[in-house]
Amino acid sequence: MSVQHDPVQRADFDQVMVPNYAPAAFVPVRGQGSRVWDQSGRELIDFAGGIAVNVLGHCHPALVSALTEQANTMWHISNVFTNEPALRLAHKLVDATFADRVFFCNSGAEANEAAFKLARRVAFDKFGEDKCEIIAATNSFHGRTLFTVSVGGQPKYSDGFGPKIQGISHVPYNDLDALKAAISDKTCAVVLEPIQGEGGVLPADQAYLEGARKLCDEHNALLVFDEVQTGMGRSGELFAYMHYGVTPDILSSAKSLGGGFPIGAMLTTTELAKHLAVGTHGTTYGGNPLACAVGEAVIDVINTPAVLAGVKAKHQQFTSRLQAIGEKYGVFSEVRGLGLLLGCVLSDAWKGKAKAVLDAAAVEGVMVLQASPDVVRFAPSLVVEDADINEGLDRFERAVAKLVQG
Ligand SMILES: *Cc1c(COP(=O)(O)O)cnc(C)c1O
Repeated sequence: MSVQHDPVQRADFDQVMVPNYAPAAFVPVRGQGSRVWDQSGRELIDFAGGIAVNVLGHCHPALVSALTEQANTMWHISNVFTNEPALRLAHKLVDATFADRVFFCNSGAEANEAAFKLARRVAFDKFGEDKCEIIAATNSFHGRTLFTVSVGGQPKYSDGFGPKIQGISHVPYNDLDALKAAISDKTCAVVLEPIQGEGGVLPADQAYLEGARKLCDEHNALLVFDEVQTGMGRSGELFAYMHYGVTPDILSSAKSLGGGFPIGAMLTTTELAKHLAVGTHGTTYGGNPLACAVGEAVIDVINTPAVLAGVKAKHQQFTSRLQAIGEKYGVFSEVRGLGLLLGCVLSDAWKGKAKAVLDAAAVEGVMVLQASPDVVRFAPSLVVEDADINEGLDRFERAVAKLVQG
């Protein structure tokens, strides 16, 4: 029962799409596990994971089954009613984390938008309107809505769209003295990614997150962890805060949470959640049964000792091979990251050329990402098979060798 579609090609993108993206020259049409096929039938190994989203690869049987079962049951009902998949997923997130309460939405930006609004509302209710300042890190990324680009520390994403949200300041990441100098009793929240993802796969220092927690407590400010990229097993723990043993007040999740189905979530405590009373915030699709049914299947598979231990083992496989490639060809100065969120920092000679590396990799049949122009990023499926890791890294090495040979 397959529908006959009109033929389309990559060239159509330039005709009918807003030109805010620059997609690759080929069009992927099908995926299975960590392999993807394009329109011409060419097969690629996927270490990009749809930008840290396809946490269980493509068409994982548990997710396909959860989605199709829910598709035959109920798609959408709105928040005028609650629904079973949303309640089940919320229970699972609460049981597995510091949080007591969950707000569902559709993306990482929306999860952060909710987190920032909650932080401001808590401060407003408890301390008055002066306590509204948010401190975030330079080079951070929190999404593309106006509030989230204002909090994100990258002017290239926030400039040129009119007045930004006020009351936000930025400090250098991993610089506790800078945070100490910036925080005050007017600060309502400190917002950090436990590993800066888009900014270059830069993990926080242990002492930095511990110090940030202490400073927040001293100033009645909330600590917000943006775990949109680091969460849902990516770090080898369910959330990266567990790796550090530093607990936030509010946590945002998205990307891997849906394994490819759009969903976001903001997690917090009962005490804080009560400040978002009826009518203060919402979204039509938040807690959509399809999204939550898939999210539930994702957490069921991921939050198991076997999968999380597998992430740590696969981390070793990737890093030892990537370090060897880096040394052999002189392309990387460092391989960093946690679990299966890895960044290969380009050496001085290759600085700024991450895009060239990922284009060369795609030609050899392996999809990788960049994180800034100076870092090649890997965010594969957490259950990527050893054979795919080896074959994918062979292809990646061939791409690097060709680049180096010019
Ligand atoms: C991707 C990302 C976001 C934005 O998520 P969207 O789903 O694109 O809105 C926010 N924060 C971090 C850390 C991210 O990696």
